[in-house]
Amino acid sequence: MAYSYDDQNIFARILRGEIPNQTVLESEHALAFRDIHPQAPEHVLVIPKGPYVTFDHFALEASAEEIVDFHRLAGQVCALMGVQPGAGGLGYRTISNAGEHSAQEVPHYHVHILGGRPLGPLLS
Ligand code: C5P
Repeated sequence: MAYSYDDQNIFARILRGEIPNQTVLESEHALAFRDIHPQAPEHVLVIPKGPYVTFDHFALEASAEEIVDFHRLAGQVCALMGVQPGAGGLGYRTISNAGEHSAQEVPHYHVHILGGRPLGPLLS
């Protein structure tokens, strides 16, 4: 499967420094920043720096180093939010939309991390 990446998408522009963002954490291969329309008291997006469109694209084509780095950064975001259930936090939710049926708005792979309030059932 050939994935086509639009390098004018808004997250590509954030990564190039063309659009500001509220950075939470950054690593060699990933960036975490606050969502501009937060759906919870804590709402952070984690994106890889490489040109990946969706979870499956990233999981199938990114290097092991990128994949580990991305997830380590996401884990550090959870720790920073203070939401880790195993460390006294009250929990959180990760979501990644992919494609039309999920209403993905930005075609650059990202994981939403939401916390700071009860989030209810996933499917409604
Ligand atoms: O639907 P999708 O998972 O693609 O959501 C994209 C998210 O990116 C939205 O929650 C939107 O608020 C966020 N966004 C952002 N900063 C931008 C543009 C979009 O945080 N400049």
